[in-house]
Amino acid sequence: MPTYDYKCAACAHAVEYFQSMSAAPRKKCPECGKSKLVRQLGTGAGVLFKGSGFYQTDYRSDSYKKSASADSSSGSCTGDSKSCAAKGGPCAG
Ligand SMILES: [Zn+2]
Repeated sequence: MPTYDYKCAACAHAVEYFQSMSAAPRKKCPECGKSKLVRQLGTGAGVLFKGSGFYQTDYRSDSYKKSASADSSSGSCTGDSKSCAAKGGPCAG
């Protein structure tokens, strides 16, 4: 018979019950007597991906975008030294 973990939504009391698969879920909290028991599904599964992976990816792409834009805007000269010199640009001289 499987073990089901229950937690009371009223007093946060945690309790385990041995129940058959077809048994109705328990409702009454043995601690506070209220019908606030909630059956916990699985034990820890589903929270494994709540990490900082997405944040790290975002941070990395953001810093990459910053450096990339800085590189492209550092030189405004298009390589045409004559027109650049005529405008008094950085290619003059
Ligand atoms: Zn309770």
